[in-house]
Amino acid sequence: MNILEIIEAKKIGRELSPVEIEFVVSGFTADAFPVYQMSAFLMAVWFQGMTPEETAALTGEMLRSGEQLDTSGMSGPTADKHSTGGVGDKVSLLLAPLAAACGLKVPMLSGRGLGHTGGTLDKLEAIPGYQILMDNEKFLGLTEEVGCAIVGQSGNIAPADGRIYALRDVSATVDCIALITASIMSKKLAAGPETIVIDLKTGSGAFMQDLEKARALATALIAVGKAYGRRMSVIFSDMDQPLGKAIGHANETIEAFDALRPGHRQTAPQDLVTLTEELVADMVRVAGLKSDHKAALELVRATWDSGAAFDVLQKWVAAQDGVIDPARDDFGLQVAPVVLEVTATKSGNLAAIDCRQIGLSLADLGGARRQVEDPLDLSAGITFHPVLGEKIARGDLIATIMCHDKKLAELAAHRLSAALTYSQDPLEANNVVIDRLS
Ligand code: URA
Repeated sequence: MNILEIIEAKKIGRELSPVEIEFVVSGFTADAFPVYQMSAFLMAVWFQGMTPEETAALTGEMLRSGEQLDTSGMSGPTADKHSTGGVGDKVSLLLAPLAAACGLKVPMLSGRGLGHTGGTLDKLEAIPGYQILMDNEKFLGLTEEVGCAIVGQSGNIAPADGRIYALRDVSATVDCIALITASIMSKKLAAGPETIVIDLKTGSGAFMQDLEKARALATALIAVGKAYGRRMSVIFSDMDQPLGKAIGHANETIEAFDALRPGHRQTAPQDLVTLTEELVADMVRVAGLKSDHKAALELVRATWDSGAAFDVLQKWVAAQDGVIDPARDDFGLQVAPVVLEVTATKSGNLAAIDCRQIGLSLADLGGARRQVEDPLDLSAGITFHPVLGEKIARGDLIATIMCHDKKLAELAAHRLSAALTYSQDPLEANNVVIDRLS
């Protein structure tokens, strides 16, 4: 077997055998052939795609390139959620304790944000003392004891994905269903949960902007999950506007934690509440704690309203050495002062939001990375007030900007205003949950 023949075979669309795929992944990670041949292979996959069997084999090789956590000894069903990323997406911060309080064990490995999308780990680092790194034994021990734990992915979880992803990034091969599927699933399978629920975002702030491509990705993710014996569900959710009101790190963490207080389910931003409830209800149902969606949703709401989920939240943060003060509205987290209020320059109904640009305006404030090594201002943030379809009058408050530099705030304000499109026609509000597949 040689790499040139495998590239040639994929180029003309021949299905590769598991042995050939193993040869490619293990050869690349062992530096057995040059990077330019791997780039050519990835581009051939981009053009020809992969069958479900090839995608499953590629996932398996990437999974086996690193360590796999063993969650089989947990005292309850294990479940996790993966989001394809968006603006204002703080769901994991309330979903993990809520799912744990419902009776699931949630071992969550999370990542950092890049570009216009935020990452859960960065948001957690806004909590003083919170430890995002720990060894696997402690991580699984905390998950068993508290019900959930959220940590950063160690370099030894699917390391082949890290190398292949970096190459895809510079060879225009990121947007390929088979490669995305293997990348996501190799990492999710390594963390070991029996149930995996995917929040697949579509819209102007999402990685998959149109619903048709999102459906193809969902089908591929479910097929791979099933091939590895996992229970899967996908919710398609709206990313044509930011989720909730807060965009940033400390401010998003506060919004998420505050939403979980007993009694706040009814008053917190309803898109955030609905998406969280639906995802946790899917975790509960698919994991087998309840037999139908209605019963699962009832359990989720009762657990939220009783304060049980908020109790788990406090235990989980303390178990990872985080210091929060639940008696304070801001939980004791540091948010930068308000330096600018952005008002509408026109009147009309809010017809479209270029949500990617809203995410990038956080980068203008120093609150998001343009390059992997960029430092972050975790206290910078934006409160984005309107929702799609809303009637707005010139001069109405659109966004509140918190940061340490007025010039940066002006830059962000300019980008934010330019991202909005108004219409004189009456418009309907968007539903946050667009569809589901399980
Ligand atoms: N997220 C991942 O982890 N991998 C991809 O390829 C795309 C999104």
